[in-house]
Amino acid sequence: MGRLTEVAPGVLVATSTFAVTTSTVVVGPSGGCLLVDPGVTVADLAALADELADLGLQPAVAWSTHPHWDHVLWSAGLGDAPRYIAPAAVAILETERDGMVEHVLQSAPGSDLELMGKVQALDGPVIPWDGPEARLIVHDGHAPGHGAVFLPDSGVLIAGDMCSDIEIPLLDTVAEDPLGDYRTGVERLASVSGVRQVVPGHGHVGDAAELRRRLGLDTAYLDAVSAGRPYQDPRLTADSPAWMRAMHEDQVRYFKP
Ligand SMILES: [Zn+2]
Repeated sequence: MGRLTEVAPGVLVATSTFAVTTSTVVVGPSGGCLLVDPGVTVADLAALADELADLGLQPAVAWSTHPHWDHVLWSAGLGDAPRYIAPAAVAILETERDGMVEHVLQSAPGSDLELMGKVQALDGPVIPWDGPEARLIVHDGHAPGHGAVFLPDSGVLIAGDMCSDIEIPLLDTVAEDPLGDYRTGVERLASVSGVRQVVPGHGHVGDAAELRRRLGLDTAYLDAVSAGRPYQDPRLTADSPAWMRAMHEDQVRYFKP
């Protein structure tokens, strides 16, 4: 896990060596913080807990952007703050639990399985806490109950697994309308005004122009793949991880007439 880096006043981002996964910390009053997607490996979570302690911070509340295993882990060292997720995500955590455990055992061995996915549904426009306003943008693109967080004070958009510079759009192909769900997500994120920085769940922080570039790439990808046209997304190269190339092939097959 890389060190926490301030990307805007009071907003810190750390990046894991696992799949360039980001964790975001929003500093609140009196030593509390909002923690979004706390990281992946046991070493990540330990490093994050240590670094927060060094900064005199303690999670007051936590948010998971979506119900995939790499976004719902936790460790006792992070304390016992309430952990929230969007309502539609809760059912997925239950039905997909076995698969998630398998992923964790493989990619993040030693994780606290008791604490994995121990989140509660939050149905509301903002995360309840006494720090900077944290607005929720919930849709079903990528996964049911995918909740991005927008911090209007600092202009930071914590996008979850969307708006990446290193990942193509990853559709929830078992959903009824994966394309429609993803397009809705893109539209909602594109319509947030006042974004100055975007933090993708996997990838690098970008500015407003970079966010527009990524959303443009996403739309071009969705247009081409859903129309059955070949498309060379710059984020999909020979160096991309095998799982992402496989996912692309799946998505191409999914839309084949
Ligand atoms: Zn995901």
